[in-house]
Amino acid sequence: MDKRPVPNTMKYLFHMPRKIPEGKVVVHNRVKPASPIGTNGFRIWLQSPSDDPMLVVCNCGWAPHLKSHYRVFGVGAATDPKPPSKSRWAR
Ligand SMILES: [Zn+2]
Repeated sequence: MDKRPVPNTMKYLFHMPRKIPEGKVVVHNRVKPASPIGTNGFRIWLQSPSDDPMLVVCNCGWAPHLKSHYRVFGVGAATDPKPPSKSRWAR
């Protein structure tokens, strides 16, 4: 059961903000970026990067007009390096 409290500074967005408030960054979840936001569960929000140690700078190229954006780190994310696939079952 993962019941991490959601920081109260977190706010889902339904479109890309023109201007990012001071001290905040745009974060998206582990879902591969899709348009419009919400497609396939793709979500974005504004957050202070210091709120969550699981945020990493993302290079997926989703929002080129932003200097940088972040995502929630996690194994299995479309943009994360693939883990070695040399399992016992792989041939
Ligand atoms: Zn990204």
